[in-house]
Amino acid sequence: PEVITINLDTPLYKGSISLNTGLFINGEFVRPQESQDAGKIDIINPSTSKPITSVHLGSSLDVDIAVDAARKAFKSTWGLHVPGSVRGQKLQRLAELIEENLEEIAALEALNCDESYDFDEHLANSSFILPFFTCFVLNPDRSLILGKPFAQAKQEITIGCIATLKYYAGWADKIHGKTIETSETKMAYTRREPYGVVGAIIPWNGPLAMFAWKVGPAVAAGNAIVLKPSELTPLTALRVASLINEAGFPPGVINIVNGYGPTVGSSLSSHPLITKIAFTGSTVTGRKIQEAAAKSNLKVVTLELGGKSPNIIFDDADLEQAIKWAGVGIFTNMGQACCAGSRIFVQEGIYDAFIQGFTAVAQHLQANTGDPFSSPNTLHGPQASEVQYKRILSYISSGIFDGAHVQTGGEKHSEEKGYFIKPTIFTNVTPSMKIAQEEIFGPVAAVIKFKTEEEVIEMANNTTYGLACAVFTENISRGIRVAHAIDAGTAWINTYNTLATNVPFGGYKQSGIGRELGEYALENYTQVKAVHINIGMKL
Ligand code: NAD
Repeated sequence: PEVITINLDTPLYKGSISLNTGLFINGEFVRPQESQDAGKIDIINPSTSKPITSVHLGSSLDVDIAVDAARKAFKSTWGLHVPGSVRGQKLQRLAELIEENLEEIAALEALNCDESYDFDEHLANSSFILPFFTCFVLNPDRSLILGKPFAQAKQEITIGCIATLKYYAGWADKIHGKTIETSETKMAYTRREPYGVVGAIIPWNGPLAMFAWKVGPAVAAGNAIVLKPSELTPLTALRVASLINEAGFPPGVINIVNGYGPTVGSSLSSHPLITKIAFTGSTVTGRKIQEAAAKSNLKVVTLELGGKSPNIIFDDADLEQAIKWAGVGIFTNMGQACCAGSRIFVQEGIYDAFIQGFTAVAQHLQANTGDPFSSPNTLHGPQASEVQYKRILSYISSGIFDGAHVQTGGEKHSEEKGYFIKPTIFTNVTPSMKIAQEEIFGPVAAVIKFKTEEEVIEMANNTTYGLACAVFTENISRGIRVAHAIDAGTAWINTYNTLATNVPFGGYKQSGIGRELGEYALENYTQVKAVHINIGMKL
């Protein structure tokens, strides 16, 4: 398959990026199988709606070949044949190679995803617990650099991808079972064995971070993996694929098959030789994955799905901080974050003041919307795809139709090209409206007024989702009480979007099954074998 070169000459990045556009199977780039060649797909720059390049699409036949290679690797050159320390060294090396090529890889990610940075004047956290999806970019003086998606992409890859791979590299030789005394004449021990071949399907909103969240724990635990990037954003996974051999992985341990969901994705989820599948994406697709898993070989399924996360702001909150974090919660990554704080509940005493300040935040972003790659002053960029753009606009229409009030925004940005939508705030929202129930995955906040703690807990839990929630209050007892009362896998108190490599992340209810990150993720990539030993019992 062709190696293409992308030349970038922008104020923020200048350089050439070379990329193989094929599938990465068994340690080499290959063309899709001719008999089922599905052709190529144009990869679009969402700022201009123009193609960056095109890449090959795989088919179910390519998935079969990749699974076969992964199985061979698992049975001979990987799995528990290789000491954990050695598996860890290779993951560590891959992380270092990505680090060595960070500029180029981040430029590619920014180009394909246009992850503009979208908020200003923020608190500096320690670099390790930087809010990952918010992708704050810190100056040496610890103030924020704004509107630099390239710098932001670097930050996201550093925290979301490189740190994750290194974290799991460290775990690779620390995954072990227990010894269990049973009786005087018998004993047992457990072993944590890898599943074998893991399938992974990831979305477009944080491509390399999602790559690492899957590859890191899977490979550290000794599995081989076949990963399908989103067909919209496969470029950085392909670039990283070219580093996999150099990192020392035997052929077949990490395979990347680009392609569409209904073809490559569904082949992975129904494949009889894949024993575990990990998916991040929409709840609709997650349901299909689980169904396919059940109908094929009952493979183990973990799902990281959508959300409609409540952000609850009490009268006694630090208002200025609450307003800023609410902006981070919903407008980060143009609202394209699974844990976006899209339902904002504000207590009646500070409601008017909150709306005033929050409107100013949205309007500031509106005034600084544009192509984030070419201007360092841009705070808000385009949505990632035309489909997403149209979907968000139709949700905005539904909010208006249902009688919600457009406080600000509520329309596309005036630019002709690209998929730009104005950061939008709806007020007069009732909990049953579509914009208060369904995931919009765009820069659209639904603000709802509340009176009491009891009432807001009930409203916040009135959703099929349960990914995250946030509480803003200066009363720590109330903060903890409410955090515990909301059905969500992550609860933030006086912050939003804060993730850390060693803290688990995942959903309650229809937001997911299983956890990613931290030690918890390793449980999803190993199965426990109990070995009983007779040390003296005679029959
Ligand atoms: P999506 O479900 O449309 O696609 C996700 C992936 O699934 C893509 O690679 C796609 O090709 C594949 N896919 C589509 N149809 C498939 C099928 N029938 N079988 C197998 N695979 C299939 O989601 P998206 O639009 O790419 O991503 C946005 C969604 O992802 C949002 O709902 C968001 O909340 C969710 N998300 C969740 C998390 C999390 O950690 N919980 C993180 C990021 C995104």
